[in-house]
Amino acid sequence: MTQTMQDPKDILIIGSGVGGLTAGIILAKLNHRVTVVEKNRLAGGLMRSYTRDGIDCPVGVHYMGSLDRGQPLRRLWDYLGVTPLIPLERMGSEGVIDRYIFDDFTFDLPEGIDAFEENLRSSCPGDNSHITSIISDLRHTSHVLSSLDILISPAMTFLSPESFTSMGEHLQRMGCSSRLLSVLGVPPTLIGVPLQECPAFYYHMTLASYLLSSWRLACSSSQMADAFVSHLASVGGDVLTGDGAEKILIESGKVKGIVMESGRTLKAGAIIAAIHPATVAAMLPGDALRASYAERISQLENTKGLFGVNLAIDAGAHAALPYNIYQLYSEDGVLSRGIFHQLRRSTQAGINLLSMITTSSIEEWNEWIRTPSGQRDQDYMDAKEDKARRFIGEATKLFGSLTGAKIVDIYTPLTIRDWVHSPDGSAYGILRSTRQVMKTAFLKRTLIEGLFLAGQNNLAPGIMGTMLGSFQTVRNIIGHERFSREVIGDFL
Ligand SMILES: Cc1cc2nc3c(=O)[nH]c(=O)nc-3n(C[C@H](O)[C@H](O)[C@H](O)COP(=O)(O)OP(=O)(O)OC[C@H]3O[C@@H](n4cnc5c(N)ncnc54)[C@H](O)[C@@H]3O)c2cc1C
Repeated sequence: MTQTMQDPKDILIIGSGVGGLTAGIILAKLNHRVTVVEKNRLAGGLMRSYTRDGIDCPVGVHYMGSLDRGQPLRRLWDYLGVTPLIPLERMGSEGVIDRYIFDDFTFDLPEGIDAFEENLRSSCPGDNSHITSIISDLRHTSHVLSSLDILISPAMTFLSPESFTSMGEHLQRMGCSSRLLSVLGVPPTLIGVPLQECPAFYYHMTLASYLLSSWRLACSSSQMADAFVSHLASVGGDVLTGDGAEKILIESGKVKGIVMESGRTLKAGAIIAAIHPATVAAMLPGDALRASYAERISQLENTKGLFGVNLAIDAGAHAALPYNIYQLYSEDGVLSRGIFHQLRRSTQAGINLLSMITTSSIEEWNEWIRTPSGQRDQDYMDAKEDKARRFIGEATKLFGSLTGAKIVDIYTPLTIRDWVHSPDGSAYGILRSTRQVMKTAFLKRTLIEGLFLAGQNNLAPGIMGTMLGSFQTVRNIIGHERFSREVIGDFL
C-alpha cells in the first residue's frame, strides 16, 4: 500500500484520554500502525480513576448518556469493540436520572423525552406553549444524534444558523418563566457552558444524549480506561506511557515526528494531537503556524475548572442512590451556583462514596499556581479542606448528618491541570460558547500536512462529544469515502 497523506502508515497520537484511544482503535482496526504516547505513567487521562485508602475515586466519568443497545454512544463502543469490557448500570430506575434541588422547588430529570416533557409541564404549568416548542427542537436534535448524522454528513447539513445562537437568549425571548429557565440552565453545565452562552446545538445534543438513557459504570473507571488500552493492543496498536511529547517535528510544512521529553525521537507520517490546541501550538517550531492561527488559539477562552470532594460514608447510614443530585442556587432566574452529588457503592464493603463537584476557577488557587501536584504546602491542604467542610455542611441538608464521614480526597483545578495538562485546569477544554463558535470552527485547519487534532477540544467535551470528535478526525485523515465504506458501513 503506498503511503500518502490520505493514508499514512505510521500514526502517532499524543494523549491517551478517551479521545486519543478512540482514534487509535479505529485507525489500528483499519490496519494503520498506531502508537499512542502518554506523559503519565498510566494511560486513560480523565477516564482513569485513582485509589485512596483502598477506595476508587472517579475523575472524568460519573455518568454517560445514550448507551442502550442501538443508541449512538453504544454504537460507537460496539464498533470499537469495548462494550463487553465495560460493565454498566442503568440510571433512572426510580424514574429519576438527576434530581435538581432549588431553594423553592425540586425537578426530576427522568429518562425519555416524553417523561421529561411531562415533568416540565407539571413543574412549570404557565409555560405550556414554550415547552411545546422546546420539546419539538429537542426531538429534532435527538433524531440527528440517534442517526449519527454528525459522522455521516460531513457538511453537517442538519445545522441551521439558529443552531449556533444562544439557547438562553432564545428561551428569554420566548418569555419562559424563571422556574423553567432555572431547570433548563442545568444541562449545559455538563459541558461547562452557561445557558446564556450555550449554542442551541450543543445544548440540545447534551440534553438529548442523557435523556435517551443514562448510565454509570458498574466498575472502576480505571477498568474503562484499561478496556480501551487493552482493546487497542488487541487490534495491534501500542501505548507508550511515562514519556510526554515535547516537540513536533515539521519539515517543509509536513509532520515528521515527535521529540519526547526523554529525548527520544519517534517518526510519523501523521500525528493526532488529542490534547489542548494551545499545548500543541507550544510544541511546534515558532514559524510552523500562521500568525493569525496562533493568535486565535492564544485568545480562546476555556471552560472553568472543577473542585471535587470524595467522601467515604457508612453504607448502613446512607444507602447508595440510583440518581444524581444537583443542589442549585439561582439569582433572577439565572443559575448562579451548583453542586453535583453522586452517592454510590464504593470498592470497599460497607462504605459508600459521595462525590461532590462544583465549578472553581484557577484564580481561587492562585497562591499555589506555580507549584506542582504533590508539592503544595499545608496552607493549600487547609484551604482545600475548609472548602470541602463547607460543602459537607451543605450536603447535610440533602443527606442528613454525615457524622463519621471521612474525606478520601479533594481535588482542585490545579490537580486536573497537572494530571492531564489542561490549561488553567479547565475541565472541558475550549468553551463552546456562542462567542467562540466561529473561532473554534477554524481550529481543525492547522495547515500543517499530517497534523490533526482530536480529544474534547475537537468537537465537544464529555465522553460522547470527545468520541464523536475522534471519529470525525479519523474521517479527515482517511477521507470521507473510505470512512463511509470501512467505518460507518460497519455499524450503520
Ligand atoms: C471532574 C470531571 C468530571 C467529569 N465528568 C464527566 C461525566 O460524568 N461524563 C462525561 O461524559 N464527561 C465528564 N467529564 C468530561 C470528560 O471526562 C472529558 O471530556 C473527556 O474525558 C476528555 O477526554 P480527552 O481524551 O479529550 O482528554 P484527557 O482525558 O484529558 O486526555 C488527554 C491526555 O493527554 C495527555 N497529555 C497531555 N499532554 C501530553 C503530552 N505533551 N504528551 C503526552 N501526553 C500528554 C494527558 O496526560 C491525558 O492523559 C468530566 C471531566 C472532569 C474534569
